[in-house]
Amino acid sequence: MSAATATELARRLRARLGASAVVTDEAARRTYECDGLAHYRTVPALVVLPESAEQVRTVVRECHEAGVPWVARGSGTGLSGGALPHADGVLIVTSRMRRILSIDLANGRAVVEPGVINLAISRAVADDGWFYAPDPSSQSVCSIGGNVAENSGGAKCVKYGFTVHHVTGLELCTSEGELIRIGSWLAADAPGYDLTGLVVGSEGTLGIVTKVVVRLLRRPEQVTTLLAGFPSMAEAGAATSALVAAGLVPAAVEMMDALAISAAEQAVACRYPEGAGAVLIVELDGPAVEVAEEEWTVREVFADCGAIEVRRAVDEAERAEIWKGRKSAFAAVGRISRNYIVQDGVIPRTSLASVLASIDELARAAGIRVANVFHAGDGNLHPLVLYDETVPGELDAALSVSGAILDLCLAHGGSITGEHGVGVDKMAKMPRMFSADDLQTMQLLRCAFDPPGLANPGKIFPTPRLCGEPPRPRSAESAPGIHQGIEIW
Ligand SMILES: Cc1cc2nc3c(=O)[nH]c(=O)nc-3n(C[C@H](O)[C@H](O)[C@H](O)COP(=O)(O)OP(=O)(O)OC[C@H]3O[C@@H](n4cnc5c(N)ncnc54)[C@H](O)[C@@H]3O)c2cc1C
Repeated sequence: MSAATATELARRLRARLGASAVVTDEAARRTYECDGLAHYRTVPALVVLPESAEQVRTVVRECHEAGVPWVARGSGTGLSGGALPHADGVLIVTSRMRRILSIDLANGRAVVEPGVINLAISRAVADDGWFYAPDPSSQSVCSIGGNVAENSGGAKCVKYGFTVHHVTGLELCTSEGELIRIGSWLAADAPGYDLTGLVVGSEGTLGIVTKVVVRLLRRPEQVTTLLAGFPSMAEAGAATSALVAAGLVPAAVEMMDALAISAAEQAVACRYPEGAGAVLIVELDGPAVEVAEEEWTVREVFADCGAIEVRRAVDEAERAEIWKGRKSAFAAVGRISRNYIVQDGVIPRTSLASVLASIDELARAAGIRVANVFHAGDGNLHPLVLYDETVPGELDAALSVSGAILDLCLAHGGSITGEHGVGVDKMAKMPRMFSADDLQTMQLLRCAFDPPGLANPGKIFPTPRLCGEPPRPRSAESAPGIHQGIEIW
């Protein structure tokens, strides 16, 4: 965007939204230059903070008219560079859109604005005995709009599912500035294509979400939290597989290795079992009788798998202490390493033990450290690859180990991302999972929502495709069949 266009756009938006909603000052814009993946940085040409869906529409329409790209941003905690600004574009920040618009407990629904913080929803209904299930570890700061865009997960996903299972309807501002409502706002289902399912996880490339209808759940009668120490990751991995094989569906199964434990202890003194090479946190919830029975099964499985200590949280304070260690682990690793890459990949749970061993080998061979802290229950790994940017060669070694970990996930039939999204970080890996025809089919969908290509361009896909460009002839190797779930006709 030329300086003249930026000045004129800022003037028009100030006139419509008020002066404080438009940020032009260079230093202030710089504070938005990255999300949680700080090694990608771009200062946006303009930052706009709308207060309502109507104001979002105004901004998007002005961008459309001027042919200016835009990027939505919630709290900026994303870990794949999804909210990385466009140098010639507008960053639309939803932090002023934090109203819970309605709570309807009789129907188990709430309608919220996109900037509402994840945890604020559960807090708003806690006194009535309800909660919102998806619980990313960043839940005290991340926005529901960001959760929708990334299809965020969390510790409870193993039992309750991801964001997509808890969002029943959306209001979306398309890149042409139309506000559309999709999905079901009160009824159990809506006929036609599942557009809500399509928009959830689309990383801000199909439009900007302006309202979210979330499903609320009754709090379970009993919640039991168990902390178990194991000699090594091998036994903890085997115990996770054994829990699943025993037919249990705990609310959470989280694993941390010795390095992550040590970082968490230094940061928050969480009193995890001394000398443990790995810990598992297992949370059971449901009717009290059922949970008591499940606890015995878990204890048996842990004993069979060589647990060195199993502790049950006796009260809410102890439960909070156990979770504090896990939830602060990402930040805590900053105490033991100047820099680190948070990787996010998925593997079948049955491959846990062997993949963790291979990650260890990769790290040793490269001479760097990897801390593991992750959602073991659904095989969603988060290896934290440690490096020091001031040591020549360490960043390259970390990047190479980080990439090799994703290759490992794919080799085991897994995926390049479990919950953090593709963003800019994993675009180059998309062709490893999808054929050129798969990617082209996805681009066609994107073009249907965003013909001018202004919504978060340059994310998810390794190559841009102009809408209106005729689909290229199918290649000889793309015979009809199923490629990673997308049917090629
Ligand atoms: C310490 C830490 C722990 C984390 N733990 C987890 C975890 O357990 N599980 C998990 O899934 N993630 C986790 N994350 C990642 C991150 O918190 C999630 O991806 C979260 O959903 C991002 O929300 P946000 O509001 O910060 O979004 P942002 O980072 O601002 O944006 C993320 C993406 O959403 C898009 N977006 C934002 N708002 C909208 C909107 N209104 N409409 C359309 N698109 C929009 C952006 O364009 C971008 O593509 C963690 C991050 C940190 C830093």
